[in-house]
Amino acid sequence: MGTERHTPAQHEPSAISRSVVVHYGEIGLKGKNQPQFRRQLRRVIREKLSSLGFDWWVEEAAGMLMVRADPEASSDDLERVVGGLQQVFGIAWMTIAEGTPHGGFGAETGERDFALLEERLLDLGRRRFETGKTFAVRVRRGEKRVPFTSPQLERRLGALLLSETDWEEVSLANPDMVFYLDVRHDQVLLYTRKEKGPGGLPVGTAGRVLALLSGGIDSPVAAYFMGRRGCRVDFIHFAVDAFDMGQGARDKICRLARRLSCFTVNSRLHIVPYVHFDLALLREKVEFELVLFRRFMLRVAEVLAGRTGSQALITGDNLSQVASQTLSNLVSTTRGILMPVFRPLIGFEKEEIMDWARRIGTFDISIEPYKDCCALIGRHPRTSSDHEAMAAWEARLFPDYEQLIERTLADAVVVKLEHGTMREHEALGARRP
Ligand code: ATP
Ligand code: MG
Repeated sequence: MGTERHTPAQHEPSAISRSVVVHYGEIGLKGKNQPQFRRQLRRVIREKLSSLGFDWWVEEAAGMLMVRADPEASSDDLERVVGGLQQVFGIAWMTIAEGTPHGGFGAETGERDFALLEERLLDLGRRRFETGKTFAVRVRRGEKRVPFTSPQLERRLGALLLSETDWEEVSLANPDMVFYLDVRHDQVLLYTRKEKGPGGLPVGTAGRVLALLSGGIDSPVAAYFMGRRGCRVDFIHFAVDAFDMGQGARDKICRLARRLSCFTVNSRLHIVPYVHFDLALLREKVEFELVLFRRFMLRVAEVLAGRTGSQALITGDNLSQVASQTLSNLVSTTRGILMPVFRPLIGFEKEEIMDWARRIGTFDISIEPYKDCCALIGRHPRTSSDHEAMAAWEARLFPDYEQLIERTLADAVVVKLEHGTMREHEALGARRP
């Protein structure tokens, strides 16, 4: 974490300050526990800034958070911060605003307050001028103790722009450019652009889950959605081969998890080779390998989740998309374990999932070729199965399932990810008692 510091803007009342103003959506609907959510959002924002190399001050304000830009910050810096904050769950929208201080617009300071505000608006109006376009001024009064109403100020400032700049036409219904003024108790925030955030709730407010991450398109999107609801998300991937430490960050699954960690903040990726399962299957002709393998993945994941503090498992399953995802196979797979399995994509269309994958930047990685388990498993998988029959197969094939799980986990490697970077990796087995 970078050290916090107040920018000089806070100490010089006449200074124009620039901030990224952050508005949260759903947190605003919270009751008594709202402060907790706000605190967590602030914490994640500070971590994100620090990961980008900025130690800007993040301040609580009524109904929003303000990220105070360093006075020397360039426009590029501000854009980079906005880009970073677009990965912070809990943010509904944000804007780069210029803050003009005021003394209440009363008898004593009114003239100076208006002069300063008008000067700033004219400056912004000139910088943003576009020939032939229409504009509107929109005022919000967070501070009600000022001696004007919002429409009064809108009319005054709109007239000023018309007379003092090249702007020629107002359109209230459908303006090309909107000058927003947010009148706060000590300053007026001035901005023109609203940037959408990712919505949701801050990571760290909803407990931890373990997501089964394949090399495909769906599972990264499923993990993203759990992060968006505020979960801390760890990953488990079952690999054909042992993880190649030398390959490290270049590994496809690592890159997928790294990308996801831009959103999920801190995540651990467990890479688990499934050789022990494979070997047992080689011994005889087996039906239902696909369902048995799905059950195996969930059973290993359940044990790992129990040891690493996750309360539920997440998969990218989507009803009837492939043979393993028929209702019957999903049910008999889930019945292999006690821990709940959430499937955020169960009712999506493939196209919708692909759109999301593109939006969150996992699509291009997901479509890279990868040797995944399905390459090893029969071409005509069974579409119907039941728990009792699967349990009977397991009893036959793996007389000691606990040992199978332990052996599998003993070969696992854990990779730590933070805001899109890979921190370190180590053998999981080495840490076990
Ligand atoms: P995806 O695009 O997520 O791979 P898919 O349509 O290919 O989905 P399946 O291969 O049947 O579907 O996998 C269903 C789900 O099982 C995946 O979304 C993922 O959560 C989990 N899964 C599949 N293979 C693996 C694996 N090798 N390691 C971890 N999880 C896996
Ligand atoms: Mg897959």
